[in-house]
Amino acid sequence: VYKPSSIYNKSPRSMALAAAAQRVALEFEYSAQDVNRGVYEFIREMDEGLSKQGATMSQIPTYVTAVPNGTEKGLYMAVDLGGTNFRVCSIQLHGNSTFSLTQSKVAIPKELMVAKTSRELFAFLAKQIQQFLQQHHGEHYNAHVERRASVFGPPHDEQIFSLGFTFSFPVQQSGINKGTLIRWTKGFDIHDTIGKDVCALLQTEIDRLGLPVRVAALVNDTVGTLMARSYTSPGKTGTLLGAIFGTGTNGAYVEKLDKVTKLGKGADVDHSTGEMIINSEWGSFDNHLSVLPDTPYDHSLDAESNNPGIQMFEKRISGMFLGEILRRALMSLVDDKSVPLFSDEHSNQNDVHSTTNIDSDSPLRKQWGLDTSFLSITSGDSSAGLKVTRQTLDNDYGISAASAEDAEAVRLIAAAIGKRAARLSAVAIAAVVISTGKLGDPQNIATTSTTEVNEDDVVDIGVDGSLVEFYPNFEEYIREALREIPEIGAQGEKRIRIGIAKDGSGVGAALIALVADKAMKGDVT
Ligand code: BGC
Ligand code: MG
Repeated sequence: VYKPSSIYNKSPRSMALAAAAQRVALEFEYSAQDVNRGVYEFIREMDEGLSKQGATMSQIPTYVTAVPNGTEKGLYMAVDLGGTNFRVCSIQLHGNSTFSLTQSKVAIPKELMVAKTSRELFAFLAKQIQQFLQQHHGEHYNAHVERRASVFGPPHDEQIFSLGFTFSFPVQQSGINKGTLIRWTKGFDIHDTIGKDVCALLQTEIDRLGLPVRVAALVNDTVGTLMARSYTSPGKTGTLLGAIFGTGTNGAYVEKLDKVTKLGKGADVDHSTGEMIINSEWGSFDNHLSVLPDTPYDHSLDAESNNPGIQMFEKRISGMFLGEILRRALMSLVDDKSVPLFSDEHSNQNDVHSTTNIDSDSPLRKQWGLDTSFLSITSGDSSAGLKVTRQTLDNDYGISAASAEDAEAVRLIAAAIGKRAARLSAVAIAAVVISTGKLGDPQNIATTSTTEVNEDDVVDIGVDGSLVEFYPNFEEYIREALREIPEIGAQGEKRIRIGIAKDGSGVGAALIALVADKAMKGDVT
């Protein structure tokens, strides 16, 4: 329940603003009952995805059948095409749960996200790899260039970097370094990539530049996060889930092979561990909106997006969208003449428009104009009179002279949107924990001691992404919701360990490149 703070005085204007803000904030309430219904449906869709192709939740088999234990060693490269940045790194795995990492990062130019051809994007990626090699592995790179130019060509024993390609989009994987793009998400839209093997697209551009690099593994960022977390903090029971709450959201988890019935008997799968990592692609959970909340702001955001009707869970949780939800909620108040948001304090309440404090070219008036980082800023604002929020509104959003009351209204709504996102995230985490049976018999949980959590009983989860990293209390809100689920409860919640695997996808991709290398050389079963 949201309470306006004492900032509001009793003037009719203040009361009207407070009431309106509270009404909108309430639209984002996601109750304990909603959480529980969500978990139930989530588990149903997980099972459906394991049993057939083309389900709402893709539940993609990754062909990775074990998580690392920290003893892995070697020098690998990794690249990560996420929602916002492209990272290139080289990773030295030391074999004692530690690693050293050299990396470079560039923002992906917006025009490449919607390029005419895949080649424009992938040529850009290859170019970044080349620059990275020149800059950080110059000797190796120059030697390679010289040998290629010599009449004898490069020697057969030349060292070629094995590269793990973290590609943070839904891919139908058919082998460790093969997979075709199912659909773009997070604002990317390049038509001719759909259905193509993204590893081959990258390798082609790498070869055009003649780089000493082999794309050895294709990895979703959630799988990378899971691997990285397992490598760096190998608990007694291994890590169960790697999850991203960033520009997009998704999770990959360790599943029993015999539950992955859609693989069929003939599939070329390593059965030695009896397990396989599944990339759930939970961003598309409940696309048909049977249990997800759907405020008018969610609804119009989706309708005006470039992929209406899909990634509906993601559109309520992740960083690409929360700012836009807030923007729409705020604009609904601005457009409502009875609500004095961002209006001149001395103006006539019935004539808000003529006196609004929002610039005509304010980003608040444009689709995607409000950045999700603003939610973190205002939700965590403890300055007197919400000065920080007001300054940000002024500097970044063309709203001068926002009052403390305006700022309080904005914060109330932003906090409600952030909290709903965290509670929805809890639905996904809970569903994975419950469906994999990791907490054991609920009967036993109720009787275990309340204080110390035994190391054997820990259920480990690795997370990464801007929301978990920057949104205030995101994890605490998740935990609160977890406790409201009877199958987990206060006892179960304590046993769930959530750890940040910062930029883990790079290390994770290197780890999978290592597995792929060994498999290729026949070192490993
Ligand atoms: C993609 C996932 C990815 C997630 C987090 C989603 O939009 O579909 O593949 O793991 O974003 O980056
Ligand atoms: Mg990322």
